[in-house]
Amino acid sequence: MSRPLLFLDVDGPLNPYAAKAQRRPEGYTTIRPTVGSFRRPLRVWLNPAHGPALLGLGYDLCWATTWMAEANRWIAPVVGLPELPYVDFGTGLFAFRPDGVHWKTEAIVAYAQGRPFAWVDDEQSPQDTRYVGTHHPGPALLHHVDPRIGLREPDFAALRDFATTLPA
Ligand SMILES: [Mg+2]
Repeated sequence: MSRPLLFLDVDGPLNPYAAKAQRRPEGYTTIRPTVGSFRRPLRVWLNPAHGPALLGLGYDLCWATTWMAEANRWIAPVVGLPELPYVDFGTGLFAFRPDGVHWKTEAIVAYAQGRPFAWVDDEQSPQDTRYVGTHHPGPALLHHVDPRIGLREPDFAALRDFATTLPA
């Protein structure tokens, strides 16, 4: 059986954008991407230890972020990740859904095609858990990360645990 997928958000889990503005967390480095996007932060904090930690979890990694292809240019080299595939949200980017499901969720479930996955993000809600439970036939972990803090060891432990509980 193939490895589970890990859908990875950038702003929140890798970039703790909601941390106090004048206090860069320890271990982080600052980048100022010049790509224009009105939804994207101008100052991005990234931790070079995150890439190696993520690569050691036993998943196939995949970007699930507004950065889409730009994540490979701006984020991957700084956090220590190789070029990764990404979920193309197309016209669904930021699209409002009256059922309260996040605009990423349907595309993530479609991308997974039934494969077990974990989704690391700072914006899931119970509606997303419900949507995944209804539309995704395999195991799934929606793992929430506080955007004031970003990924830390307990998050990696939870992801590792989920991957090891999957049927071989
Ligand atoms: Mg986010």
